[in-house]
Amino acid sequence: MATDLRLPTDSIVMPDKDSFLNEENPFEAMMSRFDRAAQLLDLEPGLYKVLRHPEKQIIISIPVMMDSGEVEVFTGYRVLYNTSRGPAKGGIRFDMNVNLEEVKALAAWMTWKCAVVNLPFGGAKGGVICDPLKMSAGELERLTRRYTHGIMHTLGPDSDVPAPDVNTNERVMAWIMDTYSMHHRHTVTAVVTGKPVEMGGSLGRREATGRGCMIVIKEALKHLGMKLSGTSIAVQGFGNVGSIAAELLAKEGCAIRGISDRTGGYWNKGGIDIDAALKYVKQHKTLEHFPGGEPISNEELLTADVDVLLPAALENQITSKNAAKIQARIICEGANGPTTAGADSILDEKEIFVIPDILANAGGVTVSYFEWVQDRGGYFWSEDSVNERLTDIMRRSFADVLKLSLQHKVNMRTAAYMVSISRVATVHRLRGIYA
Ligand code: NAD
Repeated sequence: MATDLRLPTDSIVMPDKDSFLNEENPFEAMMSRFDRAAQLLDLEPGLYKVLRHPEKQIIISIPVMMDSGEVEVFTGYRVLYNTSRGPAKGGIRFDMNVNLEEVKALAAWMTWKCAVVNLPFGGAKGGVICDPLKMSAGELERLTRRYTHGIMHTLGPDSDVPAPDVNTNERVMAWIMDTYSMHHRHTVTAVVTGKPVEMGGSLGRREATGRGCMIVIKEALKHLGMKLSGTSIAVQGFGNVGSIAAELLAKEGCAIRGISDRTGGYWNKGGIDIDAALKYVKQHKTLEHFPGGEPISNEELLTADVDVLLPAALENQITSKNAAKIQARIICEGANGPTTAGADSILDEKEIFVIPDILANAGGVTVSYFEWVQDRGGYFWSEDSVNERLTDIMRRSFADVLKLSLQHKVNMRTAAYMVSISRVATVHRLRGIYA
């Protein structure tokens, strides 16, 4: 007898802006958005339960011989949230604040991010609790290799493909690739992405996330009937994502009026000279004392009078406390989770067009996918070819999300989750439940 799989409409509790007691908990923030989209999609209760649980959570103890001759034991995680659409994809971070809740949330995020741009990947994330700034290169290498050994059974080009994240880089990816390859007795470049170009990395990967932000901002301006040339922009964070997006947008004729990093912000109504700011950071490491603008606070930058706000630094920057003061017409979430769930409805009330993180910063994972494809094919593309394909995917994904947003009269974040969840759900329905 056919079972009614429909979810009773009152079985998902809808979030409202006052109900976020802990609006900074990343798993709750992600799940409240998931719930809203799941309800609008009328997701079956069985699938709802499946998609609310990570597929696999690995916790390992990592003994490392320190330079002092003493043994330290670190804790490492790898969470595979969902692999229905393909190998798990997601970065590895080395940080003192790593914890299982956060790794779970970030792994789920990767699942929706890969699905929104329609990559044949699932989502994962990993991390080790450590302070890499206090460790020598040798200690970091031993930690990385032993962590890789501890999660070896999940890794592989067809199963789980890590990438760099907070405090990990090309060098760490090279160690992971080498450790995996030694165990498998042959070189397996496609087991990680974000590798050095000399050993199977992709051209254009370093710029990909900032470039992706630039592409979706252009699409949003077009949709809203706003001109690209002369558009005023404030960028929070002047690292990989923020500085490259600022550079590319300035080249397109936008006025980058505000920039900031962890040392403070700078404002120039006539537009900051981004080339000068890039040179300054190259020389001084940070923007501290940058002479090309008036000093402003982080809060002033976020609430500045600009057309576009591009948060590209940290999570939880736009909250229920400051959302009402935001003046930008468009927010492009270059960072992961810069807006708390509690701020969403306030931004909606103000009719601010938010390009959500899972779409806005998906350029990075898209070029990671290109890297994996190139490694597996053993044939490498020109930078122009990478950028063309990236532009194509970002534009198409923006259009998919916008279409659903207009159809269902929901904001772009909810629409992005709806696109992702329905893609993952479709594959689950087709595959069925193995028993
Ligand atoms: P990064 O370390 O290169 O740069 C981070 C920047 O933020 C630095 O300029 C830093 O000084 C600044 N910052 C730190 N604290 C700040 C504060 N309180 N106020 C203002 N600025 C502050 O990192 P990134 O790779 O550019 O990543 C930025 C964000 O984008 C993160 O949320 C990351 O998860 C996300 N992201 C990055 C990529 C990528 O490919 N790099 C891909 C997807 C998402």
